[in-house]
Formats: sequence, structure tokens, C-alpha cells
Amino acid sequence: MRAPCDLLLANATVLTMDQKFTMYRSGRVAIAGDRIVAVGPDADAYDAGATIDCLGRVVMPGLVNAHTHVPMALLRGLADDLRLDVWLMGYMLPVEREFVSPDFVRLGTRLGCAEMIRSGVTCFADMYYFEETIAEATAEAGMRALCAQTVLRFPTPDATSYEGSLARARDFIERWRGHPLIVPAPAPHAPYTCTPEILRACAELAVEFDVPLHIHMSESVQEVEDSRRVNGMPVVPWVKKHGLFDAKVLAAHCVHVDDGEMRALKNVGAGVAHNPTSNLKLGAGIAPVARMLELGLNVGIGTDGAASNNDLDMFEETRLAALLNHLTGSLEPGKRADLIIVDLDPLHNVPAFGRDPNGVYAQIVYASKSTDVMDVMCNGRWLMRDRKLLTLDEAELREAARGQAKRVDAFLSGREVSVLQKLVAVGGAVELESFEVQVKARVPSAEQVLAVIAGKRVTIVRSSHYHQFDTYWSFHDPDQGWLRYREDEFLDEAGNVTGARARLTLTGRTREADLGGVLLFRSRYLAPAAHSPRFYREYFRPAAEHVVEKERRRWLLVYRGVEFYVHLDRLLSPPGDGYFIEVKSRTWSQRDAQDKAAVITDLLALFGTSPDDTISDGYVELVAGRR
Ligand SMILES: [Zn+2]
Repeated sequence: MRAPCDLLLANATVLTMDQKFTMYRSGRVAIAGDRIVAVGPDADAYDAGATIDCLGRVVMPGLVNAHTHVPMALLRGLADDLRLDVWLMGYMLPVEREFVSPDFVRLGTRLGCAEMIRSGVTCFADMYYFEETIAEATAEAGMRALCAQTVLRFPTPDATSYEGSLARARDFIERWRGHPLIVPAPAPHAPYTCTPEILRACAELAVEFDVPLHIHMSESVQEVEDSRRVNGMPVVPWVKKHGLFDAKVLAAHCVHVDDGEMRALKNVGAGVAHNPTSNLKLGAGIAPVARMLELGLNVGIGTDGAASNNDLDMFEETRLAALLNHLTGSLEPGKRADLIIVDLDPLHNVPAFGRDPNGVYAQIVYASKSTDVMDVMCNGRWLMRDRKLLTLDEAELREAARGQAKRVDAFLSGREVSVLQKLVAVGGAVELESFEVQVKARVPSAEQVLAVIAGKRVTIVRSSHYHQFDTYWSFHDPDQGWLRYREDEFLDEAGNVTGARARLTLTGRTREADLGGVLLFRSRYLAPAAHSPRFYREYFRPAAEHVVEKERRRWLLVYRGVEFYVHLDRLLSPPGDGYFIEVKSRTWSQRDAQDKAAVITDLLALFGTSPDDTISDGYVELVAGRR
């Protein structure tokens, strides 16, 4: 009397991926409910309601995508060939702020699940916003996932504060813990986007509910250098110090980790999600995977968001299943029935050699393509049969995704029309409401100016001394104006640097009026320069760049009852002879501007310059030789 089961897969090359890498030729797999009940000769003891003949096909465990942001499938190809920070801060975050909603993540998850099922993935680790909606859509599609709710120190599309995202994560974990397909988790986004307090709170939450924790770690050289500079140590020991590894950690990337850090990851039982395509595409580098495996670290392969396809050893990724409570990852009795059937008949798989019995592994890794995946089962349920998706409607997804892309395109096109809009998109530019009257003139020496400053005819309110490094960018359309990245080094009396700051200014080129050599300018836009000049260069893609370096003495003074800023400048690069003097004042009306222009003309005479010495160009225009 043979035992009953629901399904028998017969005549297959069965790659069990168990500890011993057992393989069966013409093997069988018996499935009952959501589980595998027998594999190989043991399956002969079962009688099935249905049998599938798998001649010429491989039956193996479903693949695991160890790190992704599944809804970002909707943003695939949005901004390519950019470095990590420009891609993230310049494009992804602004678009996410604008568009990411429960509807967006639901559609993106369904699109991403459809794509993953087609390539033989039955399980993935996700990190995004509105993770509960992602969990719902994933469970509906029948896939297994670690769904990790993002927490970071900035406002996100689903929370205005870190406390808000943490509360969301707690609520989600409480409700989904114990689900047959979904493992809920907190995801502090990355050490550099979190505070020690956030890292600790997330780890405590994961420990409290006995769920894993997902995080990005040591992705770029910049991240590691910043950590060394600010925290005095690389990333892994720093997060360890703040209690992160109290939780079971799945760390994405780990591109820039040293031997000691790899050993530390191994000792705390962390898993590493290696994302070769994403790392290479964004120029982050190549993770020391061979060394990680040598040290016995659990390494899985992920696609990261929006990037596609894996190469390297696909089988390593199944090891990460350890984080999902050993339910999956191999074909063994008692394990969940998460498996795929791969066709070895397509031309690119032909011929196959029998000399090495393990040749079939190499064939799967190096020759097979995702399109060879014929059937996909997760938790005992067919998600794809004969390449037809059973839980998702592809035609409907295609249409909805295209509609969404149109809306994102319209948003970005609107932003790309002007440098100002792009500036607003990355950092809250502030418009200076006022007009400004200003004049610039050459002065043969500093002495007369300094004598006036020291004298009684002006009252000095404040004074300062800087070393200024200005990078000016211009654009093909001159109406866009100049974008200036200015780094000020503050100098003390002895010329020592006492501090520094950086600012971005967008200056319109139009001057409103010429009041006898004194010019009236329209407002400018100021933004804090939170990123490096390199970031802005790659983000704004200017047509030309000019660098001006100067020493500036600056005074706020009162002359004839009017406040003025006076600059005494000496050009250092490109080197110029003599000095320039600039006199500026804010104004709100044409009438006031005229009055101030008259006072400025007097002040200039005091400084020893005549109206003939005035220059209407800015420094960059002098340097660039254009008006
Ligand atoms: Zn990622």
C-alpha cells in the first residue's frame, strides 16, 4: 500500500541542493499540500493524484533574490549611467517623494513579482516603503518574502519622522508575524542615513519579535571613508557598537569590508546580500565574495532595485534561506515545496557532457537563461505552468506600468526644463525676495580702501575675512544663468582657517537697470550645498565650468545712514593684479535703488575709484571672457 500525495514530479534531473548536493537522474519529487514529502527513490512509495513527466528537465529549489526594492521595477531605466549619490539623491529620492504611495508600491510589487517568477525566483528579501502593502501584493502573487519596512532619519513617502516609520514597522511586524509566506522585518536603510538611536531601536524591535533585520552596509568607498572620519572606525564595528548585531542581520552590499569586518559578520551570524549588477552599474565596486565564502559567511545574490539579472554562482543565493528559518532552499522531505522546473532542451543548453556528473550545475549557472524556467511552485502552489503566469495578469500589468511611467516622465520633464527646478528638486532653494544694487570697480591698491575703513566717515558693523573657492557652471541656454558652488574658508587675523561652509547660488543673468554704473539686479536663489561639487556637476550636467579663487575682506558698514556690504577682493586664481572693490545693498523699490546708487557713487569716490573704473561683469564673466 503506497502513501497518497498530491503531486509527483517524475523523470527529472533533481538537484536537491541539500548539504551533500545530492542529485538524482530520472528522479522523483513527491509533494503534499505545501510541503515536499519525499525525494529520489523514497518518492516511489507515494501514489499521486497527478504526475508530471519532467523528461529533459531539471527540478531544483526556487531561487532567492537576496536583496531588492521590488516596487522600483516601476522605475526601471528612469536614470541610468549615474553614480550612486547622483542617482539616489538627484533622481530616485525626488521621484519617490512625488510618487510613492500604496497604489504605486502595489503595482510595482506585482510587476516585480511577475518578472521574478518568470526567472525562477520564489523568494526575495525586500526593503521599501508601505511594506505592508508590498507584503499583501506578494502574498497574493503567492511568493515568499522577507518584507522589511524602511526606517531612516529623513521624512519618507510613508512617514514624516523616524518615530513614524518605526511605529509603522512595529505595527506591520505585529500583524504579519507567523504568516506562511511573509516574514516581516525592520530595515534601517543604511548606517549613513540612520542615527545610532535608530539602529538600536530597529535591532531591539527585531529581537523583541524574533524577526530578521535588513540593512544596506558598506556600499561605497565614500560611505566607509566618511565612517572612518566621523566615527573613527569602519562601518561594521560602528554598527556593532550600536547594538545592530543583537538582531539577525541581512546586510546588503558589504562591498568595502576588510578581513576583520568579514570575520565579525561571520561571528554574529549575519548574512550578506551580494548585488553584483547594481554595484557595477552604480560604480560602487566589487565585493570580496570569494574571501567571504572562504571565511564561511552566508552570501546570497540580489538584484537590488530596478537593476536586473544575476550572474556568478546562482546557487549561493539559496544559502540565505537560513535566515528564513530553514523552511526553504533545498528539496528535502519536510521542506516547503518551493521549486522550479528548468528546460535543458533550448539550443543554448545543447549539447551536455556526461563525463562530469556535476556538469549539470555548471550548465544551469553558465548556459541556462531565465527563459528556460518553465514552471514555478511556491509553498505547494503553482505560480507558473508552461511559462504562463497563474497568479498575475501580465497584460494588465504592462498597461498599468506604462501609464505610471508617463506620469513620472511628465514630472521629470517639468523639472528638467530649468536649472532652478532641478535645484529645488534636490535641496529646497530659497528665493531672495529683494533686488540688489551693486557696483564693482578696480582699485589699484588696498591702502586707500583700508584707510577709509579705519577712518571716521564710515561706521563698521561687522567684518570678516575669507578665502573663497568658487566653481561656476553655465548651461547651453544662457537664460539659465550661472550656478555657483562656493566654499568659504573663514580666516582669522593671522590668516589661519577657523571654519568653512559651502553654498549654491543660482544667479539670473538679467540686470534690471543701470543707474549710472550702479547696477540693479533681480533676486537670486540660494540653496544649502549639502553635496560635493562633483555631485552637482554630474547632476546638472553644465555646458562649461570656470573656477575662481580669491581672498575677500568683507565689511558691513553704514555710510550716510545706509547699510552697505563692501568687499575688497584679490584674485588668486586665475591670478590678477590689483584689487577689486564691490559695494552692495539690498533694496525693495526702484526709488530706493536710485537713492542708494547715488550714495554708492560717493562711497566709490571715497575709495579712490571713478565711475570709469567700474566693471559691469561678474568675476566669472571676467574669467570666462564673456558677457
Ligand atoms: Zn538596495
